[in-house]
Amino acid sequence: MTDSFSPRSSVHSPQQARPSRCGLWIARPGDRRPAPALVTGGPGRRAGVDCGLILVFLFTTGCAVLPSPYHPAKMMVTTSVAVPDDGYEDYVGVLHIHTTYSHDADGTFEDVIRVANAQRLDYVIVTEHNTLQPLRDGKQGWHGATLALIGMEISARAGHYLALNVTQEIDRSKLTTQQVIDEVNRQGGFGFIAHPYFKKRRWTDWTVTGFTGTEIYNAAHDTLDENHLRLALWTLTVPSEPFYWSIIDRPYDPLRTWDALIAQRGRVVGIGASDAHEVHVLGLKFAPYEVMFQLVRTHVLIPSKTLTPEAIYDALRRGHAYPAIELTAEAKGFSFLARDAERVVGVMGDEVALTPELRLLVSVPTSAELTLFKDGQAVASTVNTSWEIPVTVPAVYRLEASRHGKPWIFSNPIYVRPAAPSANRTQQTTDNVKTTPQ
Ligand SMILES: [Zn+2]
Ligand SMILES: [Zn+2]
Repeated sequence: MTDSFSPRSSVHSPQQARPSRCGLWIARPGDRRPAPALVTGGPGRRAGVDCGLILVFLFTTGCAVLPSPYHPAKMMVTTSVAVPDDGYEDYVGVLHIHTTYSHDADGTFEDVIRVANAQRLDYVIVTEHNTLQPLRDGKQGWHGATLALIGMEISARAGHYLALNVTQEIDRSKLTTQQVIDEVNRQGGFGFIAHPYFKKRRWTDWTVTGFTGTEIYNAAHDTLDENHLRLALWTLTVPSEPFYWSIIDRPYDPLRTWDALIAQRGRVVGIGASDAHEVHVLGLKFAPYEVMFQLVRTHVLIPSKTLTPEAIYDALRRGHAYPAIELTAEAKGFSFLARDAERVVGVMGDEVALTPELRLLVSVPTSAELTLFKDGQAVASTVNTSWEIPVTVPAVYRLEASRHGKPWIFSNPIYVRPAAPSANRTQQTTDNVKTTPQ
């Protein structure tokens, strides 16, 4: 447990937790050598094929690329800002994970723990399809320095729903999607709409209420939405760096929908989901946890040096959380907070009152392209490690950080309200967060 609180480097070493050079969808245990090119099917078949045609095919399908160096945006250096202590600890974890308890994954719960320990994750949340069997099997709890929590992914009529802090399975066949959400809440749980734009399982009913939030980045969605032939060929032929970078896209549709939901409902929490389904075929590992657990993580902010399930759930309900794509740089140390004069008045997920000296403060562990969104619109950007922004208008403010043109960090919003919330309103908001998440 001590390890979970120790400081970490902000940037991965190139070798860390990379199972093989051939990347995301394939990994041989213990093998760090480049994968052989399997795509052409063997020497006999290759002999009669024009190499030029192969190259044309590979380049046009995207199965081969020239190494693409990073192209950072032009630096706009501004004065560095000292970020005050907000009183929160930053815990990092991976949520939405499948194992052999689900019908479509071959990685075991023990594999998840092994990788989570190796990557020094503070927590993982395993969410099998429609079952809480791991909970009954006593899997929830500390495993080394990682706290494992058990939720489930419910296949509701309108799409998949990530249910957390629930204790009983739900007979979804008899229930509408709204009834599923209500039943999760009745159990004292809460939930998130999963991969809302994944082609095979889009979310189809946006009239539902009572959910806490939505996945704004789902790593499985981002990868599986690629052309499958292209994906397989890329996997087997392209070195890891351009491959990894090629598949990461800013999740435009989930983000746009998130902003719209916030505008409509006041507050909605965004999380990042791995949705890892490690699959084993002929001794090869596809979508290995080693990679999927770096593709996206969700950090939670907790005002304590003791990590508990309740604290993680509370942070997720309140939006004291931020997803980060940590393939090349860890995000720990990121902060997005509101300051009134010298006093910290809120962190991401909080509602704060507009005051004459209100400032938003951003800090990232390494220089990044920072973009401020106000009510869903990008309104300002810079490239730096920190940023101070005066606030003059009540609105919903959130921040995105990207590196070399690829998304890196998505903050939850700070909700700047026109007037100071009264004691009653603060209490009411807290109660809402605990009982009827919006
Ligand atoms: Zn799903
Ligand atoms: Zn899933």
